[in-house]
This record gives sequence, C-alpha cells and structure tokens, in this order.
Amino acid sequence: MSDDRPADCAEALARLFDFLDSEIDETDGDRIREHLADCDGCLHEYDIEHHLKALVRRSCSDVAPAELHLRIRQQLLVLRTRIEPSG
Ligand SMILES: [Zn+2]
Repeated sequence: MSDDRPADCAEALARLFDFLDSEIDETDGDRIREHLADCDGCLHEYDIEHHLKALVRRSCSDVAPAELHLRIRQQLLVLRTRIEPSG
C-alpha cells in the first residue's frame, strides 16, 4: 500500500465527509486536500446538500442547518486557500 500517494477521486469524495467532520487523521487529510487542490471536478461533484442531510441526521437536528451549510462551505474555501502556495 502506498499511503503517500494523493487520494483518487473516489477516495477523496468518499472521505471528504469524514474530512469535513475532522474524523480522519492528518496524513489522510493531507491526501484529500492534495487531491482536491488538483481536482475541481471533485469539488463540483461533491453534493453538499447530500452530505448535509447526513450531517443533520447525525446531529439529530430539525432546524434548518444554515449554519452547518455555511461551515461546510467555509471548510471548502479554507481548503483551497490553504493549498495555494503562499511563498
Ligand atoms: Zn477528483
């Protein structure tokens, strides 16, 4: 197993949920980040609403999860910002 390789599309999408939830360790998180940095497709294909529902279900909340939605979008933005070389 070569764990130092960036994740592929399937893995990135499968684990993005865990990644957003901070439920994977840093090494795996880096691999997901690395892939997303190179793959706009994944960010587009990633159905936020779909995962949002799962998140809401997990947190047992009936409230319209505007805050949650914002948080996820912020995570994605931070993700992209961090990846850009800063110097
Ligand atoms: Zn991809």
